[in-house]
Amino acid sequence: DELISQIAAGEVVERPASVVRELVDNALDAGATQITVRLLAGGVRLIAVEDDGSGIARDELAIALRRHATSKIASLHELETVATMGFRGEALAAIASVSELALLSRPPEQPSAFLLDARSGELRPAARGVGTTVEVKELFFSTPARRKFLKSDATELAHCIEAVRRHALARPDVGFAIWHEGKLVEQWRATWTPGAPPSPDALERRLADVLGSDFVTQSVAVHHQAGRVTVTGRAGLPDAARARGDQQYGYVNGRFVRDKVLTHAARSAYEDVLHGQKQPIYALYVEIDPARVDVNVHPTKIEVRFRDSREVHQAVRHAIEDALAAPRA
Ligand code: ADP
Ligand code: MG
Repeated sequence: DELISQIAAGEVVERPASVVRELVDNALDAGATQITVRLLAGGVRLIAVEDDGSGIARDELAIALRRHATSKIASLHELETVATMGFRGEALAAIASVSELALLSRPPEQPSAFLLDARSGELRPAARGVGTTVEVKELFFSTPARRKFLKSDATELAHCIEAVRRHALARPDVGFAIWHEGKLVEQWRATWTPGAPPSPDALERRLADVLGSDFVTQSVAVHHQAGRVTVTGRAGLPDAARARGDQQYGYVNGRFVRDKVLTHAARSAYEDVLHGQKQPIYALYVEIDPARVDVNVHPTKIEVRFRDSREVHQAVRHAIEDALAAPRA
C-alpha cells in the first residue's frame, strides 16, 4: 500500500507547490475563513498549512491518511449525481508517503486538539484552537531521485505562492497569508464577510491585492451569458499584458484549470479585437452545469473535459470580445 501511495504521489505530488495546492484545497473544503501557509526552504524542508475550518476528530485523524478515505461523498445519491468525485481521498495518503507528515486538529466540539504523526502512528494531545494544521517536512526525503529534480528554494517558493494565488483568486471571502523562513511574504485579506452577500467589488479588490492594482485599472470587466454557460471576471488591456507577461487564470465552477479550450478561446478573442496580441492576461470564471464538465481527467483536477467544448469556446471568446470592444468608462 505504501508503494501504491508512492506511485499515486508521482501523479499528485510533483514539487512543494503541489502539496500546497492540495492542502489549501482541503482547508477550503473544511470551510476555512483564514488560511496560513508557512514554508522553509521553498517548501522542501517544511510546508505547514493552518486553517480555522471544521477540523478532524481525534478518531478520524488516522482515517484521513488512508488511501481513498474521504469524508466528502455525503451520500450514494451524491456519488451518482455529482461527477466531481472521481479522484478522492488520494492527496494526504500520497503526500504522507513521500514526506514526514503530521496532522494536528481540533473540531469545535472537542475540548482539545490531537496530533497524529503519520510515520510513527503516535497520537497525542496537543495545543491548538479550532481548525487543522497539516505539517509536511522533508518532501521526497525517501525518494532522492525525485528530490534531485527540485529547483532552487526561490523557484520552489515562487511556485508555492502561485499555487495559493490560484486559490485566492477564486475565494475573495477567505483570507490568506504566506510566510517563508519566518517572514510574511504575501497577505491577502478577505474582501467580504462570509455569510453576507458578496459585494460586487469584492472580486475586484481581491484581484487588485493578488495581481496588483494596475491589473484592475488596465483591464475590463467580463460578463457574458450564453445558454448554459456564464463567463465573468476581467480581461487585461494590451498595456497590462506588455507590462506583466504571462498571467492567465481560468476557473471552471470555482476551480482553477489549465484548459486548452479556454486558452485558445481567449487567444482568439484577443487576436480578433486587438490584432495579434500574443500574451493576453485575464482572470475568467466559467460557470457551467457540472453535468456538462468532467473534472476527473487527472488526479489533480487541473484539467477538465467539457461535454460540448464548442459551447464553452464560443462563450469565452464572445465574453472577451464583447468586453474588449465595449466603450471604456
Ligand atoms: P479528499 O480531499 O479528496 O477527501 P484528502 O486526502 O485530500 O482527500 O483528504 C482526506 C480527508 O481528510 C478529507 O476527506 C477530510 O475528511 C480530511 N481533511 C483533510 N484536510 C482537512 C482539513 N484541513 N480540515 C478538515 N478535514 C480535513
Ligand atoms: Mg483533498
